[in-house]
Amino acid sequence: MPFRSFARRLATSAGHHPFIVGALGTLLTLIVLAISALTLWANRETAIEHANETSRNVAAVLASHISRTVESADQSLQTLIAALDKPSIRHLDPEIRHDLLFSPTASARYVTGMGVTDDKGRLIDGCCSVTHHWDFSDRDYFIVHRDNANVGLYTSAVYKARSRAGVESVALSRRMNRADGTFAGTALVAIDLDYFKQLLEKLDVGPRGITAIVRIDGTLVARNPPLGAARALNFGKSLTFPRMVNQESGFYVAPSASDGVLRLYTFQRVPGTPFIAVVAPAMNDALAPWQRLSWIVGLSSLSVSLAFCAGVWLLAFALRGRVMAENHLRELTQTDPLTGLKNRRALNVALENEWDRLQRNDSRLSVLFVDADHFKRYNDEHGHAQGDSALQYLAHCISKHARRRGDLAARYGGEEFVVLLPDTGETGARQIAEAIRAEVEGNRTAEGSPGLAPFTVSVGSATARRSSFPSLDALTKAADDALYEAKRKGRNRVDYATTP
Ligand code: GH3
Ligand code: MG
Ligand code: MG
Repeated sequence: MPFRSFARRLATSAGHHPFIVGALGTLLTLIVLAISALTLWANRETAIEHANETSRNVAAVLASHISRTVESADQSLQTLIAALDKPSIRHLDPEIRHDLLFSPTASARYVTGMGVTDDKGRLIDGCCSVTHHWDFSDRDYFIVHRDNANVGLYTSAVYKARSRAGVESVALSRRMNRADGTFAGTALVAIDLDYFKQLLEKLDVGPRGITAIVRIDGTLVARNPPLGAARALNFGKSLTFPRMVNQESGFYVAPSASDGVLRLYTFQRVPGTPFIAVVAPAMNDALAPWQRLSWIVGLSSLSVSLAFCAGVWLLAFALRGRVMAENHLRELTQTDPLTGLKNRRALNVALENEWDRLQRNDSRLSVLFVDADHFKRYNDEHGHAQGDSALQYLAHCISKHARRRGDLAARYGGEEFVVLLPDTGETGARQIAEAIRAEVEGNRTAEGSPGLAPFTVSVGSATARRSSFPSLDALTKAADDALYEAKRKGRNRVDYATTP
């Protein structure tokens, strides 16, 4: 089955190359981890984008709320000014006129004072807390309206109210003109900063988030949570403030000047006013859900990846162990235990292969049959143990001379050996056969055979070309016949088969 053989080949090559398999597994693990990290990073960006979007909505709600309040106060001012212009109202009884002019506006929640000044800044009428004849000629709104005819609605800087124990307020004001267009005084509505603080308190921007309303001159109108008086902040000094003044809305990330916490600032100009609504959740609050998810996803993908990686390495080494054991087993089944040469089974396979190769290539193939002379007698005289040593020595001599790539020496059985010499002609085979014979004969002096009784070998050699022998059996029989010939002619010699 192709898949099974493919899987087997894969397992075998994995067994041969455990480091490559382990490295590939590790690379795969790193790729998976990198993808996880990139995904988590993208999720972080999404979380920041989401926080920005939420802040934008909160800032828009805040801005529109303030804008509506300012519009409504302006309408009250314009109604007041129009009413004062009418002689019928001007000449009413002061008490009735006061009720008529101020009652509707005074009931508005955000209004903490309302009044009218003359052209010298003196309060001529007012309601709520503004009841005395105070002089407002030093206020910025009075000066602005006195000196400019076309200011329209003016929102003052933050000031401490003269009434109500110096509560911080801002005033919305309009200029009043006489019939000839000269300055007649100002009409104003005062709004306590508490109104803005209460607005901000209703907005939830996380445990460490802040909301604020800033005037374009950099003064802080309100902030939630509030700053201590000693730490009242002037936004105008902040490096990022110019950006807020020059843009309608925007977003930036910066550490807070007051507490150093990294926040995501979203700001939005309140239309028709000098106010900027600022919504700034803390980065850590905005990322908290993402951080929890990252821990879970990060740790689990890391542990799964490490387990996978360890598994791949273990598998690779286990496969290597198995392949090595299989190779060792295969080696054992092909090896003769006494001499360490190939056994007869391996010889048969090699003979078939070389014979097939000879049929394909126009080459030569020589076969030597080597047989120990009078070995039965040798055993009888010197003992079986020395007989074994002699056979080991004979194997050593054969290996020493049949050492070219492709040469194969095998124990055919008993004291008989076969040497396979591919791409070797008669001359080469003769040299090797003679060398083996001479080496064995000279064993008395050989280093590898201390104390070994001398013995000799006879060799039969046959060399085949592509079509010189009809079959492999014919070739081996020719070599065997040559060996027989050598025995017959007196032993310790090499004989050659005549090519048919
Ligand atoms: P020839 O010169 O005609 O080959 O005579 P020979 O005695 O060598 O031939 P024969 O085939 O009669 O005897 C082979 C002997 O080889 C018989 C056996 O005792 C010996 N022999 C075979 N295998 C082994 C072995 O593994 N160890 C030992 N020590 N001797 C073996
Ligand atoms: Mg023999
Ligand atoms: Mg024999």
